[in-house]
Amino acid sequence: MTMPDLNLFEYPEEVCSECGNNVFAPGIIFKKVPGVALGEGGDTVTVPIKVAYCTKCGALSPSDREVYDKETAKAAEKKKNSQKPANSGGLIL
Ligand SMILES: [Zn+2]
Repeated sequence: MTMPDLNLFEYPEEVCSECGNNVFAPGIIFKKVPGVALGEGGDTVTVPIKVAYCTKCGALSPSDREVYDKETAKAAEKKKNSQKPANSGGLIL
């Protein structure tokens, strides 16, 4: 694949939705996954997720925020659906 001759500065850039800053730094969110969920049993495993965060206010970059919120909501929905009928009457958090 050859890169077309383009000038990146012609294009819009992602800015922080909280403060408007346009500089982001790489960061890592560590998720603690129980061994059972990995089909291994045993100890909880710490799994890193790479994200970018605003260097000014610390908020996640808008694209990472979008993915994070979407996946978190999906996970919550999955958890809700997998609850046993006996629990259907109450919220368990
Ligand atoms: Zn910011």
